[in-house]
Amino acid sequence: MTTTVGTTTDPTTPVAQGSALWPAQARASQVFGRQLVISRAEGSFIETEDGRRLFDGTAGLWHANIGHSRPELARAAYEQMMNLETYHTFARFTNDRAAELAEMLAEVSPIPDPKLILNSGGSDAIDVACKLARRHWQREGRESKQIILSREFAYHGLHAYGTSIAGLEFNREGYGTESLVPETARVSFNDPEQVRRAVAEIGAENIAAIVTEPVQGTGGVNPPTEGYLETIQELCRENDILLILDEVITGFGRLGTMFATERYGLQPDLVTFAKGVTSGYAPLGGIFVSRRIWEPFFADTDDAPIFRHGSTYAGHATAAAVAVEHLKILRDEKLVDRVRELEPTFVKDLEDLARNNPEVTEVRYAGLLGGVTLREGVAVEKVCDRMIDKGFISRPLRGNTLQVSPPFIVTEQELTDFLAAMSEAITEEAAA
Ligand code: PLP
Repeated sequence: MTTTVGTTTDPTTPVAQGSALWPAQARASQVFGRQLVISRAEGSFIETEDGRRLFDGTAGLWHANIGHSRPELARAAYEQMMNLETYHTFARFTNDRAAELAEMLAEVSPIPDPKLILNSGGSDAIDVACKLARRHWQREGRESKQIILSREFAYHGLHAYGTSIAGLEFNREGYGTESLVPETARVSFNDPEQVRRAVAEIGAENIAAIVTEPVQGTGGVNPPTEGYLETIQELCRENDILLILDEVITGFGRLGTMFATERYGLQPDLVTFAKGVTSGYAPLGGIFVSRRIWEPFFADTDDAPIFRHGSTYAGHATAAAVAVEHLKILRDEKLVDRVRELEPTFVKDLEDLARNNPEVTEVRYAGLLGGVTLREGVAVEKVCDRMIDKGFISRPLRGNTLQVSPPFIVTEQELTDFLAAMSEAITEEAAA
């Protein structure tokens, strides 16, 4: 792709020109002319239009868990579309595949006896979870319970609610107010006592929910500090605050358990999911809703409340068919067990990297999710560029950290090679 420089409507300012597609989370002038155009992928590798083959060390945006280009999923989508591309799920209508997927998800649910709300991705799921938390307390007649608490460095997508509760400040800035949805506040990401104080200051009577990733992803791969999640859960119970667990990254096996609830012993009220439900083969997300929240809406009475939420593609039949087939692959090929089996090697490789490379200040990990933090002065963006030249993909995260989250099908050798290439790139960049 070539970059040409034109002018803006202000003739003195040049404008970067490239594709008509607006690049996400980037300054256009810094990516046009050097974009990697991915046009093929297979297993743990992707290929660019200009013929490069790269190891996908991040599984895309933490989504390609079972690996790329599985023909079974292409077939599932084709067969579904030949039969019924989709039909909506409003009012009396539903479709057989959405219903089938919901039953299947209920069987592996991190919450007992759940209802499922389906939609198109993680940001959607966060939007609906936060809305439902507020709707719950309004329906209960506790009108002041409106504030959603989230953690510093949190990432919950970039729809209006995800933007409003972002713990990465730059994602909240530039819209004229502190938070698009005003009723939000941030709490400490690692100090449970600060969270306790914040709840006391704000007043539990004003708080609808606390939302948290079990392991923060974009914030730098931060596993919970000792007792943090347990304290949050306790605080929620003691104070009638709903606990929303954002499992958009961790759901469906990334931590070696189907959900992080299992690994950390949590009983949340709402759980959001997306990426790993289809490994990205179809845009799908949703939330598990606990009985305490769904039951009043399902009362068999003429005046039962309605949760006024929905979208054309909520329960999209083709996305659901792909998810059903995908979950079968995850189960039949025991890929969640595989994450658990790989974890000790993964941990050892990361610890070796930290020990052997003086530029690495810390490594953090859980399951097949890792972060490698470099000393200030060695720019992770540049290290990622060097890694691409060597045929490996990582990604910069907050805090000068490199992302490590390969597909579950990665081999031990590929993992070792990936971290060796990372170490080499770090050393080269430090010396440059
Ligand atoms: N929540 C978490 C924890 C995420 O990491 C992400 C995306 O990376 C989202 C929500 C948003 O998901 P999506 O990009 O599918 O909207």
